[in-house]
Amino acid sequence: MPPLSLKVNEIFYSLQGEGPHTGMAAVFVRLAGCGMGCPFCDTKYAFQTGREMTVEQILHALEPYPCRNVILTGGEPTEQDFAPLARALKQHGYRVHMESNGAHDVDVSDIDYLVVSPKKYVSARMLQKAHAIKIIVGQDTDLADLAHYFPYANDRTVVCLQPQSNLQENIDLCVKIIKQNPFLRLSLQTHKMAHIK
Ligand code: SF4
Repeated sequence: MPPLSLKVNEIFYSLQGEGPHTGMAAVFVRLAGCGMGCPFCDTKYAFQTGREMTVEQILHALEPYPCRNVILTGGEPTEQDFAPLARALKQHGYRVHMESNGAHDVDVSDIDYLVVSPKKYVSARMLQKAHAIKIIVGQDTDLADLAHYFPYANDRTVVCLQPQSNLQENIDLCVKIIKQNPFLRLSLQTHKMAHIK
């Protein structure tokens, strides 16, 4: 049997720009592909393009970076068999984060920190597994739907509102909602605002 490979769009070293770990250095492994089709998606470039890499090749690509945090992202990482990679990363001493839309209920036992950002549909079980739920909020957001996520906020799970496309009107809306529901947090795409490479 040939070694398992994953279609990888890019691997790069940067800072986490959004969510509860904003400012944390990490190596990003962006897996290719996502079937959700969100109109506001900012990683459409990752849907088709990528190269097949074995787990060994991915581990080798991480070696030059002086950082033990890895963020599996996409696209949508759960649309590929990421589990052997997550397991290998753990075995090599990495702390593994994953950013997912949560549509597929998958085994995340080797993921140290799971961020679920629900889109058109989401698995309730993935919401329960998440350490952070990051909801994109725009002017079209149904506030009654949004409130369904609020009960997930607890000592373990952070629920963040992230203004769609960093637009000021969406930032203002998020701030208003958070002031009314102070257990929520604001997540800004600081890497875009600060042009972090
Ligand atoms: S779920 Fe995420 S990666 Fe997939 S289309 Fe929507 S925004 Fe893009």
